[in-house]
Amino acid sequence: MLTCKELSERATDYLENALSPAQRAGIKMHLLMCKHCQAYVDQLAKTVKLLKAAGDSAAELTPDPALLAKFRSGTAESQG
Ligand SMILES: [Zn+2]
Repeated sequence: MLTCKELSERATDYLENALSPAQRAGIKMHLLMCKHCQAYVDQLAKTVKLLKAAGDSAAELTPDPALLAKFRSGTAESQG
């Protein structure tokens, strides 16, 4: 049986359909019994949707260093 920690680690892959059928089944079983993880996955699903709506097909949940650098260079210019 999956622990909550294991589920949280795989939740992104679950939402991206990147897991094997057996792994998906394990997560679904856990979600049926665990309201905490239901809420977590629900929240994560909304985040992934927002990212996809923003045009990021990769839907990375961690900031892209190259993208951060772009933002930083942009703000540095405007602030002089
Ligand atoms: Zn749980």
